[in-house]
Amino acid sequence: MSATSNTAGRGAGLRPGGVKVRVHSIETLGALDGPGIRTVVFFKGCPMRCAYCHNADALSADGGTLMSAAEIAAFAVRYKSYYGQTGGVTLSGGEPLMQADAALALTEALKAEGIHTALDTSGCIFAPAVLDAADLVILDVKHTDPQRFFDLTEYPADGTFKTLEYLKGSGKRFWVRQVIVNGFTDGGEQIKTLIKAAAGAEKTELLPFHNMGAHKWAAAGLTCRLSADAVPSAQTMARLNGLLRTKQDKLLQRKK
Ligand code: SF4
Repeated sequence: MSATSNTAGRGAGLRPGGVKVRVHSIETLGALDGPGIRTVVFFKGCPMRCAYCHNADALSADGGTLMSAAEIAAFAVRYKSYYGQTGGVTLSGGEPLMQADAALALTEALKAEGIHTALDTSGCIFAPAVLDAADLVILDVKHTDPQRFFDLTEYPADGTFKTLEYLKGSGKRFWVRQVIVNGFTDGGEQIKTLIKAAAGAEKTELLPFHNMGAHKWAAAGLTCRLSADAVPSAQTMARLNGLLRTKQDKLLQRKK
């Protein structure tokens, strides 16, 4: 899949048995990437360059381990008893939609095993077939302003915005996330705009930027653009989460 492609995985010519996933790593018993206890499959490769990326070693589309969808599904099945009613497998990365055909094949293989699937994506590559196949989409909206989005990610916002509109129109279960970075996404107006943009999402989450992955930038031959000053304080997060709850309550009351 080309890094510059912005539409993918529509289904034509897919060979679910033949396509392989280029995997960065697989984590078991994760509790942060979707509901319940989950196995998280980190795909290799991402076309964005978010200033706060904590997975810089997953950005290159080279390297990693090639695994078939069936191999990954067989691995995930071993942990099925931990998933319970709410858990399952999350496709993350890197950017799983950079390998849209492989993401679709894996989602279908997991569903055939009765495993709940979540797609953790920036939506930067529009891939409706994969969005449709996942049980839950967790969409990371980097910023709601296109220029600020580009400043933060070095990638156009069009794909993410198109994905968000598609999810809103599909009636599909989806969450919206935004990483809070001082100087980029820590303003009250940005949170208000995000809440409006995320109307229809089952959940909206604000995640604080942390610089625990800073060492990976140098190891990947890249320069990290953010310093520790960009990490939001506990007070900033409390203020923004308070604003988020107040705005959401108002929206709920208006619907009643
Ligand atoms: S979309 Fe995710 S993996 Fe890609 S650069 Fe941004 S934070 Fe890193």
